Amino acid sequence: MFLQNLLETLIKLDVKTMMGVLICGNLVLSLLTLRYYIYHDSNYDKTIIQRFGIAKILQAIAWLFLFFRGEISDVISVYFGNILLFVSFYLDSLIVLRLNDKWTKGWVITQSVLLAVAVILFLVFEITLSAAHIRVGIASLAVFLVFAAPNVLSILNKESTKFQKVIAAISLLFLIFLLLRAFNSLFDNEIVLFTNNFFQIGTFLALVLLMLTNGVGFLLIMYDRSYALVKESSNLDPLTRIYNRRFFMNKAESYFKRAQQEDGYLSFLFIDIDFFKKVNDTYGHLFGDEVLKVVAKTIAENIRPLDLCCRFGGEEFLIYLHDTSKEEAITIGNRIREVVQLLEFKQVKEYKCTISVGVYSAKPNTETNLQQFIDNADQALYKAKAYGRNCVMSFD
Ligand code: GH3
Ligand code: MG
Ligand code: MG
Repeated sequence: MFLQNLLETLIKLDVKTMMGVLICGNLVLSLLTLRYYIYHDSNYDKTIIQRFGIAKILQAIAWLFLFFRGEISDVISVYFGNILLFVSFYLDSLIVLRLNDKWTKGWVITQSVLLAVAVILFLVFEITLSAAHIRVGIASLAVFLVFAAPNVLSILNKESTKFQKVIAAISLLFLIFLLLRAFNSLFDNEIVLFTNNFFQIGTFLALVLLMLTNGVGFLLIMYDRSYALVKESSNLDPLTRIYNRRFFMNKAESYFKRAQQEDGYLSFLFIDIDFFKKVNDTYGHLFGDEVLKVVAKTIAENIRPLDLCCRFGGEEFLIYLHDTSKEEAITIGNRIREVVQLLEFKQVKEYKCTISVGVYSAKPNTETNLQQFIDNADQALYKAKAYGRNCVMSFD
């Protein structure tokens, strides 16, 4: 009974009104996308945002042309309206592929071929038969053709987020209605574009739902991704792309608190590039920057993934080594020192880079703090400099 009431209420909805909703909704989405595009500094995936905006504008125009069926020239309403619609769904399908990391040449070619097939199919039936119910049926099949595969892929993709899966499920609902609408229209010659029956209303309702979830969802996903990118890069030193001092100190503070509760040794390495001022003075700042990048990368590659390193300032780097004794820390320091010494710079072949390393190891307890550890590693670095550089010295 309830279901019957619901169905009756739904059928009272009007296809033309829903087309109006689709026009307005897609226009609003394209304006929001434009705003995002203009005000967003991050270059993250500008083409996908562009494509999304274009797809929404095309779809708004397509629905506008279809909305005025009978009142404007049939060439515009029938041909332009439908073909624009296919192209907008084609662009949407590419975005689905991109969000699932499947924007490969093979997929783009497949989708483009499917779009071409859809357009040709539509034109052939339109030119030869030009019947309203066949047109509704074939146009539904054409949209199905360009939109189905990427969405099925999205549902099957194990790595897609829950939210993406919800969007894909609504797309699937829309696709099922499209198929039902297609076959219902092909075999019922009473049907025209504005007929209000179960399959028509179902298709348009699913599409309105899809427009809302997909549109808002897409913009949210974009915001999430660029926020994650900004957050990540705010922790990094812009030149060397290893952690900056602020992030290192925050992390080290929490590691240190945990280490105070445990009984293991903890080690710090303070690294400073030797005679770096002379490198800048002799070969220029740009080369100096290159040396900093390569040394930072070398350090990051020669510590364990769980250990922490940062650019502490200028040409100084600080490393936090978990559960590491003085002997082990000295070994690690020497390994880094030797690898750095062997580095070759193709811009300045004669330059040999050396570093000095200060080591401090101890068991942290409640009387000691992080700053003391860092200061002591710095003291050890002074010792290494005084000893003649290109060496590893420990605090005691
Ligand atoms: P020492 O062996 O005693 O460490 O000598 P040094 O010349 O390395 O030490 P000093 O502290 O006098 O010089 C550090 C130099 O590092 C000075 C500064 O111009 C340079 N420097 C700091 N940051 C950067 C940077 O981002 N890029 C470049 N190219 N140079 C930098
Ligand atoms: Mg220095
Ligand atoms: Mg130096």
